[in-house]
Amino acid sequence: MPATYEWCSSDTHAFPPGLPPFGHEYLAVDQLFELLRRFGTFGSLEGGGISRLAASDADGAARREFAQQLERAGAEVGVDAVGNVHGRFALAGADAPWILCGSHLDSQPRAGELDGTYGVLAGLCAAQALMRAREAGVTFSSNLCLVNWCNEEGARFQPSMLGSAVYAGKLSPEIALSRKDAHGIELGDALGRIGFLGGAPIPVNPRAYIELHIEQGPMLEAAGLHLGVVRRNWGAVKQKLVFVGAQAHTGPTPMAERRDALLAASRVIVKLRQLAEELGTTDSPLHTSVGRIHVEPNSPNTVAARAEIDIELRSADPAVLERARACLHDIATSAAQRDMVRFECASTEHRPAKALSAKAQRWIDASASRLGVALMAMDTISGHDALNLIDLCEVGLIFVPSAGGITHHPDESTPPADLALGLRALTDVLWSACTEPLASGEPN
Ligand SMILES: [Zn+2]
Repeated sequence: MPATYEWCSSDTHAFPPGLPPFGHEYLAVDQLFELLRRFGTFGSLEGGGISRLAASDADGAARREFAQQLERAGAEVGVDAVGNVHGRFALAGADAPWILCGSHLDSQPRAGELDGTYGVLAGLCAAQALMRAREAGVTFSSNLCLVNWCNEEGARFQPSMLGSAVYAGKLSPEIALSRKDAHGIELGDALGRIGFLGGAPIPVNPRAYIELHIEQGPMLEAAGLHLGVVRRNWGAVKQKLVFVGAQAHTGPTPMAERRDALLAASRVIVKLRQLAEELGTTDSPLHTSVGRIHVEPNSPNTVAARAEIDIELRSADPAVLERARACLHDIATSAAQRDMVRFECASTEHRPAKALSAKAQRWIDASASRLGVALMAMDTISGHDALNLIDLCEVGLIFVPSAGGITHHPDESTPPADLALGLRALTDVLWSACTEPLASGEPN
């Protein structure tokens, strides 16, 4: 069932006695649901869900609407060299430092409408609330920049979280723009075609980055809680292994002489599943998967000459992850020997497990108290643009529940009252960040 966002203002959360959440009186919560409905039409699929791959026509349409909404909200809109779209809200004046907020409008193929889009649109509503407060005479110490990061999903172009990686200096713009999709189209050309290659950089040296996202897992719902604060991310190792055997007829070729690249790859796939059970513990689970396989020549009557598999290993425990990586090498070596093929590692990417900013967690904690809700401290297993910014500034990541833990699927949904709660928390946290007095020596 596609999301409907039935929302009525009687769902409004009753705030506990004491200090109400900051900015709530300037917030138009209904607008979030209007925006979600509108953005759900860009790349919408028959039968529900969306397909809005990075730099596709549907992504272009969503980006244009986002840019218009930003402009209408009083932001100065820009597009940077790798297609990140940003809106700068001048809350505190030209010389004031910056707080960033954002997420992504691109999606997986046949995805839900909330992953990424919720965070961007809630950011837009929050920014408007802060702008209204400024007009009403509230004084801010920092400006706010809202960002739609380019190619977060990594479904069309790899690596994932590409736009934020370039911003964080982890990936050069040249390499990012030359990444090719499955049809050989470069990201730079695809962005040029939809009119989103620019030259306006996102403000550097931000004081903080705040992202609101659906959990994409079952923990909040299982605990009966409505708001989560991320304390750390799991580490991940992503490898592409290529097995090379010999092309041969599947009929007459004697079994003993076959050098079957697909068979060796298959042994690795099965062994990796066992590895998760062998190395993972209750305290330090290991998640392993092979989500994609490419076989050549991919004919029913031909022994595979080449098989590429995309492997992921994830754990919060660096020691478990390191052991898993070593075991993967041993597993691939023995599979290759057994099937008389060779293998190589075509690419490898390592995202270390890290703690998120304690200061941003305190902002989120205080916000939950003002909202009168219990907060769950949790890990993020999936990657988010926020993780690319951990070494740059105070990074806060807020989660709302995902019904049934379902995500990357058209049935992805979150109860409207939780979507509204997340927006209130984000607005409150951005308020705290943008009004915090500056330490001496900081620009103002
Ligand atoms: Zn996402």
